[in-house]
Amino acid sequence: VIEIQNLHKAYGALEVLKGVDISAPRGNVISLIGSSGSGKSTLLRCCNLLEDSQQGEVLFKGEPVTWRGTGHGRRPSDAAQVLRIRTNLSMVFQQFNLWAHMTILQNVMEAPITVLKRDHKDVEAAARAYLDKVGIGDKCDAYPAQLSGGQQQRAAIARALCMEPEALLFDEPTSALDPELEQEVVKVIKDLATEGRTMMIVTHDMKLAADVSDHVVFLHQGLIEEQGPPDTLFGAPSSERLRGFLSATT
Ligand code: ATP
Ligand code: MG
Repeated sequence: VIEIQNLHKAYGALEVLKGVDISAPRGNVISLIGSSGSGKSTLLRCCNLLEDSQQGEVLFKGEPVTWRGTGHGRRPSDAAQVLRIRTNLSMVFQQFNLWAHMTILQNVMEAPITVLKRDHKDVEAAARAYLDKVGIGDKCDAYPAQLSGGQQQRAAIARALCMEPEALLFDEPTSALDPELEQEVVKVIKDLATEGRTMMIVTHDMKLAADVSDHVVFLHQGLIEEQGPPDTLFGAPSSERLRGFLSATT
């Protein structure tokens, strides 16, 4: 579903991605690991057209969605394309980013109704079903501030699912949570993996990466240092840097 080819991204003089290739076939879960500053969030943001890039391509179902910033000649061709990509590659952030002034149900219903112009009744039924699915069906009428972090993140996942995306992008979905709340979010992500959802997950949680991934990518300073199935990557890492990273994080 997502193909990243030789992607280069710099912020001014700072080269963050220096030629990255990743393929996320339908139904696969790809985890991105690596030290702080290695470019993990930037890579996800390039997929979702939240960032431009200087060289290389991101393909969504074979269609180039790469954004070339001013002066590079190519922009997201139109607002409709950006909308389609963001709808199909729905992102879940570390800080949940729920609307504080809306109830949980309203948060989940907002984008499908205002952005996708779907029917209110259908969206409400879907939103309630997704909130049930992530285990907070009883919190529909609560406001985000009345929920625990783990519940808020599950609401954010329900909101992403309610867009009926082709793939989900997670940027450190459990990093802002206390360990006991982390597990409820991990469980939801595992269920989605079991269902065969296509997902790219940036995570510091090596156990999550080992449990859910078909493929793990270790980024180091904007390049892929090592990648492979989780058993190999965690069980028999060949790169010295990856071994160092794993012993520092576990
Ligand atoms: P972390 O694990 O801390 O989230 P990361 O791997 O997600 O790190 P990125 O957020 O992709 O790393 O950042 C990669 C590099 O790009 C860092 O050096 C960061 O300071 C820099 N950077 C990120 N966003 C911007 C920006 N908007 N403007 C300038 N530099 C940025
Ligand atoms: Mg990050």
